[in-house]
Amino acid sequence: MNAVNLLGYDRDALAAFCEGLGEKRFRATQLFRWIHQKGAADFTAMSDLAKSLRDKLHGIAEVRPLAVGSEQASSDGTIKWLFDVGAGDAVETVFIPEDGRGTLCISSQAGCAVGCRFCSTGHQGFSRNLSTAEIMAQLWFAEHHLRQRLNLPEGQRAITNVVMMGMGEPLQNYAALVPALRMMLDDHGYGLSRRRVTVSTSGVVPMIERLRDDCPVAIAVSLHAPNDALRSDLVPLNRKYPIAELFAACLAYLDKAPRDFITFEYCMLDGVNDSAAQARELVTLVAEQGISCKFNLIPFNPFPQSGLTCSPRERVLAFAQVLQEAGLVATIRKTRGEDIDAACGQLAGEVQDRTNASVRMTRAPIRIHRPEHAIAPPRARTP
Ligand code: SAH
Ligand code: SF4
Repeated sequence: MNAVNLLGYDRDALAAFCEGLGEKRFRATQLFRWIHQKGAADFTAMSDLAKSLRDKLHGIAEVRPLAVGSEQASSDGTIKWLFDVGAGDAVETVFIPEDGRGTLCISSQAGCAVGCRFCSTGHQGFSRNLSTAEIMAQLWFAEHHLRQRLNLPEGQRAITNVVMMGMGEPLQNYAALVPALRMMLDDHGYGLSRRRVTVSTSGVVPMIERLRDDCPVAIAVSLHAPNDALRSDLVPLNRKYPIAELFAACLAYLDKAPRDFITFEYCMLDGVNDSAAQARELVTLVAEQGISCKFNLIPFNPFPQSGLTCSPRERVLAFAQVLQEAGLVATIRKTRGEDIDAACGQLAGEVQDRTNASVRMTRAPIRIHRPEHAIAPPRARTP
């Protein structure tokens, strides 16, 4: 019999497991703290845990990390790990240090079935969902490895923020995601506040609705277009859940969200979604829906198969300016870890596509329009 991996159990599940072994629930909390707060994997080292429980755990349970396939460190401090998840699949996790915070970008799937045009993961196809244990193993490893490597004082966390923005669509792996989120928030686990854990989604409407009730952490919605026609082209899931439905789910989410706005991500694609007219269309769209939001403009990170290029800097600035002049908050995401292909949308890992790849190949090539009306000449930037 395979030993169960305790990294997959949130505190309730661990309590049920311990009760099944004839142990009291509070023992589960002790065990949970050893695993997640101290990073212990060896039951014999868990000194204040009843010996009877330790003995029972041996052979039937383990704390099984993922195998690290490789590690790359960027000149800007970003670190990317490739984890082997078996059967030819590997996923990537990225640590992004900033002043006073450490953000971990976690993968939820090996590949992704949504197949966005501009995303390297999407181009690889889909192999499988990660388990809760595999999602948590990324955080468990990064937290405890970095504490040692950075020589952090006792009690100081390496990871202060988690973003589910690695490979995969987290809301298409809902059952495994929610227990993982609970462990991130658990005071006996990683103790992160709900606003420091962000689920990024391409818009799986029914699951946004469920997350609102089950575990309302911060969400970021990948919008990328001001209308359904273009969005359906870029993010195929839009055909199933068009913008009006997506916005309705976002509005409802705001009731319980830890922040009073939704973050919309918008990947800037040269000649595709970046004109001043499209920025104005976006302003109208969010005004009509009365949605409180902020825009995060992401310069497109190119990869060879996409056939797309990033909008020139001045067009990104002009786009942001239209939004800002309409009273919206729009920031431009700083690209991190570019030299190690760790930037947004560049995570590719290793994925054995187990879907019908020919379906993706039959898509029409994307329409790229080069707006002659162009953008207002870029404003002189203050030095
Ligand atoms: N599946 C989720 C989360 C993973 S993608 C989602 O789509 O939201 C994380 C973010 O990276 C998303 O906003 C996505 O649109 C963006 N992204 C994907 N490919 C990109 C690329 N090549 N350049 C810049 N951003 C990209
Ligand atoms: Fe999947 Fe997100 Fe990439 Fe789209 S952008 S293919 S949803 S990982």
